[in-house]
Amino acid sequence: MFIAIDKDNNRVEIENADKTKEYFCPVCGEKLSIRAKESISVKTHFAHKRNSQCVDDWNHDMSEWHLNWQRRFPTECREVVIEHNGTKHRADVCIGKTIIEFQHSPLSSEEFGKRNEFYTNCGYKVVWVFDAEGKIASCHPKAYGIDPNELSFVELCWKRKNVLFLTKPSSKLEIFIQYKVEKQDIMLKLKNVSSKGFKFYRTYPNYLLIENFLKEYGANVDPRVRSVSVIIEQTKDIYKSIP
Ligand SMILES: [Zn+2]
Repeated sequence: MFIAIDKDNNRVEIENADKTKEYFCPVCGEKLSIRAKESISVKTHFAHKRNSQCVDDWNHDMSEWHLNWQRRFPTECREVVIEHNGTKHRADVCIGKTIIEFQHSPLSSEEFGKRNEFYTNCGYKVVWVFDAEGKIASCHPKAYGIDPNELSFVELCWKRKNVLFLTKPSSKLEIFIQYKVEKQDIMLKLKNVSSKGFKFYRTYPNYLLIENFLKEYGANVDPRVRSVSVIIEQTKDIYKSIP
């Protein structure tokens, strides 16, 4: 985790942590250590000791991509402990009645389902952002990457593990994938899923950008920025005639 609590119950971000002080898990209260790895895939973070009994047994990745996403939201919205019927989990971002989960590493459909069920039972809408850059590919051997102009269904899978990217997303979820087009970070919003694969909202040439996403979910951005739903609404007629 990137935010722990100190002995006075203050939330402390990893970059402000003092190695001579003690920090605790906001979920289970166990003492944490500072794991000082510095790479793109693992940033310095707070970690449980081995044999931890923490009830939050979900796999939270500690990548730079993950940290960068969390930092786009106000501190008080990051790594928020959500409690329901005696079970506790740490949401990547909780803003209003929306939980946003950022997923950089392959996730099993089982854990995906568990997280959705938990947060939905708590009364939240769940929004996912998956890092697709170099990680998610089309399952079709002839396809090159993920084409934002592609209108037909695409099947996506995690590259590293040979598992399908997602199996059964519920209609209550909002799912985005993020990747780069000509060095720019763009996002695609999932429209629906069928046995043929995934279909995304087509908003080209208005790519969905990170700031459009932030606007949609209540983070502070320039008031002139359009939200994802506004862009989808404004561009839907352009492609109506295309089957
Ligand atoms: Zn814990």
